[in-house]
Amino acid sequence: MSFDNLGLEPRLLEAVAAMGYTRPTPIQRDAIPFVLEGRDVVGCAQTGTGKTAAFVLPLMQRVPTKPGGPRALVVTPTRELALQIEGVALEVAKHTKHRVAVVYGGVGYEPQNKALKRGVDVLVATPGRLLDLMERRVADLSNVEILVLDEADRMLDMGFWPQVRKIIAAVPAERQNLLFSATMSTDVMRIVSSTLTEPVRVEVAPSAKPIETIEQRVYPVGTQQKAQLLVHLIKEQGLDRTIVFTRTKHRADRVAKVLRQNGIESAAIHGDRSQSQRQSALDSLKRGRVRVLVATDVVARGIDIDDVSHVVNYDLPNTPEDYVHRIGRTARAGKSGIAVSLLAPEEHEALRDIEVKIGSVLDCHDAAGFDYSQQRIVPNPERTAKRAVRTVFSSSRGRGRRRR
Ligand code: AMP
Repeated sequence: MSFDNLGLEPRLLEAVAAMGYTRPTPIQRDAIPFVLEGRDVVGCAQTGTGKTAAFVLPLMQRVPTKPGGPRALVVTPTRELALQIEGVALEVAKHTKHRVAVVYGGVGYEPQNKALKRGVDVLVATPGRLLDLMERRVADLSNVEILVLDEADRMLDMGFWPQVRKIIAAVPAERQNLLFSATMSTDVMRIVSSTLTEPVRVEVAPSAKPIETIEQRVYPVGTQQKAQLLVHLIKEQGLDRTIVFTRTKHRADRVAKVLRQNGIESAAIHGDRSQSQRQSALDSLKRGRVRVLVATDVVARGIDIDDVSHVVNYDLPNTPEDYVHRIGRTARAGKSGIAVSLLAPEEHEALRDIEVKIGSVLDCHDAAGFDYSQQRIVPNPERTAKRAVRTVFSSSRGRGRRRR
């Protein structure tokens, strides 16, 4: 399968070649022809599957470059995602001559005002800032021909839906809709049925399954020894270009500090950090100035760094879905990667939820040469990935399951 028979015009194929893509990913192969036909498309795919190019390439073939834009609007939940999508669109625009702009919150208005006034064909936006700019009458959406809702499930989770609805109300009713979501919850399906017209659904593997090329390892450890074990694993196993996930912002800062105290260059990235701090932390990992980035789930989906070799779950996430998203930061676009989870005694229930979700039991490992001075609990090796029937007495959990 090559890009040649998807219906893309020569200028788009040039862009594809310049980006170094030789073969379309499954979501690109399935979605691009439908988008080019003008159909509404629902794409069930997580980040890392090549979904950005799956909508950017065909939409840039379809929308014209002319005054009165934007003609295409991409709404996405986080600044990081917005910047990534803009990056792909700018690459393509070198060959199609579209004017691309991105707007997101947390930064000054002036550069964004100017960009919009200069004229835009393809606009990438986070919901809050876009709504602001609409209210200030800087952004005019009356000529939008294609609306992309990226990571719809995340936008719902993050409470952005009221803003997104206002944005949908401001674009012409006659338009093409593309909606991408890692999960298809009933809430997402409701939005699909109320917003889209006879959509075709394209799906990459079952969305809940982690990418097969990721080796997943669990290291049982006492709660108090997690930091020591992390330092040990990073040093002994030569972990490089690693993203470590923690449950809270506070823990992210603390873990980054412990790593630095142990001579491991690291930076923290979470929702409390300013846009420029987050960007500079990401750049540091990309350029190899730091070995480890410590992050919380809020930013997990937005991280796009090539060749992340390891993802470490310092804390298991609150939901199995977040586990899938976290480990998806490695093994991107067909590469292999390793996901390591540090399992404290109070996290066994969360591990079970993950195993049930992904349909397999994860391998437990000992860290060779590590002094396990604190008691740890190793999960029963006989366990299966089926949900056990819970009795009334075993239903208490060490930590809340409900997200946010
Ligand atoms: P995405 O799922 O859009 O975040 O893309 C994940 C990563 O895959 C990005 O780093 C892309 O540059 C890369 N990618 C997307 N499409 C292809 C392709 N057809 N071949 C190789 N890499 C790709």
